[in-house]
Amino acid sequence: MSQERAEELRRLLNLAAHAYYVLDAPVMEDPVYDRLYRELVELEAADPVLIRPDSPTRRVGGAPAEGFTSVDHRIPLLSLDNAFSLEELDDWYGRLLKVLDREPAAGEPPQVLPMVGELKIDGNALALSYEQGLLVRAATRGDGERGEEITANVRTIRSVPLRLQLKRPPAWVEVRGEAFIPEAGFAAINAERTDRGEAPFANPRNACAGTLRQLDPKVVASRRLSFFAYTLHLPGDWEPGPEDPAVPRGQWQALGWLRAAGFRVNPHCALCPDLAAVKAFCDRWEQDRRGLPYATDGVVVKLDDLRLQGDAGFTQKAPRWAVALKYAAEEAPSRLLRLTCQVGRTGVVTPVAEFEPVPLAGTSVSRATLHNADRLAELDLCAGDTIVVRKAGEIIPEVVRVLKELRPAGAARLELPTSCPECGSVLVREEGEAATRCVNNGCPAILRGSLRHWVSKGALDVDGLGIKLIEQLVDRGLVASIPGLYRLDAALLASLERMGETSARKLVAALEASKAQPWHRQLYGLGIRHVGEVNAKALARAFPAAADLAAAAAEAPEQLTAVFGIGPEIAQSLQQWFATSANQALLGQLRELGFSLASAEGPDDGRQETAGPSPLAGQTFVLTGSLPSLSRSQAQALIEAAGGRVSGAVSRKTNYVVAGEEAGSKLAKAEALGVAVLDEAGLRALLGAEPA
Ligand code: NAD
Repeated sequence: MSQERAEELRRLLNLAAHAYYVLDAPVMEDPVYDRLYRELVELEAADPVLIRPDSPTRRVGGAPAEGFTSVDHRIPLLSLDNAFSLEELDDWYGRLLKVLDREPAAGEPPQVLPMVGELKIDGNALALSYEQGLLVRAATRGDGERGEEITANVRTIRSVPLRLQLKRPPAWVEVRGEAFIPEAGFAAINAERTDRGEAPFANPRNACAGTLRQLDPKVVASRRLSFFAYTLHLPGDWEPGPEDPAVPRGQWQALGWLRAAGFRVNPHCALCPDLAAVKAFCDRWEQDRRGLPYATDGVVVKLDDLRLQGDAGFTQKAPRWAVALKYAAEEAPSRLLRLTCQVGRTGVVTPVAEFEPVPLAGTSVSRATLHNADRLAELDLCAGDTIVVRKAGEIIPEVVRVLKELRPAGAARLELPTSCPECGSVLVREEGEAATRCVNNGCPAILRGSLRHWVSKGALDVDGLGIKLIEQLVDRGLVASIPGLYRLDAALLASLERMGETSARKLVAALEASKAQPWHRQLYGLGIRHVGEVNAKALARAFPAAADLAAAAAEAPEQLTAVFGIGPEIAQSLQQWFATSANQALLGQLRELGFSLASAEGPDDGRQETAGPSPLAGQTFVLTGSLPSLSRSQAQALIEAAGGRVSGAVSRKTNYVVAGEEAGSKLAKAEALGVAVLDEAGLRALLGAEPA
């Protein structure tokens, strides 16, 4: 099994590496490549028999491309080992101490070795050779031993000195660094390519590689590449002149030397006295890098002391004294385990992909919604497929696509079932609708969903009636409808799992108290399609009793659409709901139980919304994290109803960021840019709305 898998991975990774390094046209996302690569490394480490000479884990980069002369590097250019978390950084440090024979004795703290933290610029490594202070050759990394000679092109890069600023230059100097295209330049190149009908580059790194391999240096010059130097090799016998920088003893001093010799060195680097300082540097740049005008994909951590670097040495393709800490990916591959279906309270059947857990942007993810049958067909999923999973908007996991090259032979196609997984009745998909539904009103999944909705926070807000209890009540046939909840007695409730007499009594009291909730909450709780919290409020204001609303739905739908925010689709949904006899019976039973189904205040025809002021006109908001009582779409609707605009990204033009729990990078960005941050209460205050 693992032999077959290793074979598959090798084939796919080699294919991807060729597309990436030689053709500059990647066929998969970098984080996906990195994870599959890691899987192969692990398989090979567990069973070295699986190692083959053509494994991508055995070599650096790609073969030199055609069209340029290939040249041998004086000193090989290596790759970097990766760490994908701070724990893996600890592991790397542990291994480093071990090779240096500096492991701490039992109970002792680990040895402290100064390290340099640098940003990992997402460009292309260049090897620059100087002789007697003059640039004589520039080459790409190629396979690490041999690269392509691209001196004429590199001479067009303004930040590469053609002559070193040294009084007594060494016989030779080898400098390594990163050529890159700033983001603005990348956008311009792609715009040009698209205009010419050419395929745009996938990312700045590929654009840079493609540019460096242009046969016409004038084109290269027009692309405005830049270069940061980060590695220095000097002959052992060089003696600097009196004004020249001293021979460096550590990486930190080497960066200073490069700067003094006329190179551009990335200013965002730090000499870190210990691992804690390294981690602080990594943490800081995980956020701050987003404000940089060029792409970075991590932090490179290097042992400072050059002598110790020599002692630590190299593995087959990377130095042991350095590691690249890559930031949490928003995309990753995983193996599809099964397809399950969820039946919601409106009967909509949602297919869900369950896959092997993968860490994604900071959390472990193992499920993603596939939305509907169309999306399922579009993805073309088969059992056992390797899928690419992403976190959309940094929060919701989704399946982006399938790596068909890794599909097991004879795998069966996955499709939505034809009958409801909960009640077995035949599923229905109406003409022109994306959703497939269970239309059996007695379906336990629909009942559970509608009970949960009825007692939820925005609706009747009944404390003490959680999912588990609802499941018990429905599964045991104790409750068959919303009114059934109000006929439960404390003794019966107390006999259920995880219930005691006190909690049972409290629940009965909470249900009783919920009868006094305002009309708009009752309306929302009914779970009529498209009638969310905001619309329920608007409708309840315009129609102070259920009877008025039912009458308008039946006879004068134009009265519904006259309410701000209510369109024909919602009007039609109300019409259907009130016309259904089971729903009329439900309203009758609720009235008998003591629900008013009407507003306590006098009528208000909704003028407030239609002609109301726009207190937020011209203001831009960004929403992040989960708010205590409003969903994102509700918060957005409220802001928009008050004349404001909701945008997806924080910039200097953002007026407010509304942040809830587990707010992500948008909050950090807002803080960095000094944008005002509000919580839900703050937003409500701004809207002049009642507190939740
Ligand atoms: P790497 O990019 O992970 O790390 C090594 C490189 O980091 C060096 O060669 C250098 O160019 C660069 N670097 C940037 N800043 C540096 C600094 N301050 N100090 C030292 N080095 C610095 O390794 P790699 O071998 O170049 O390539 C692997 C990368 O290429 C991965 O990110 C991988 O995702 C990507 N890749 C993608 C595909 C694909 O199909 N998408 C295929 C092959 C490789």
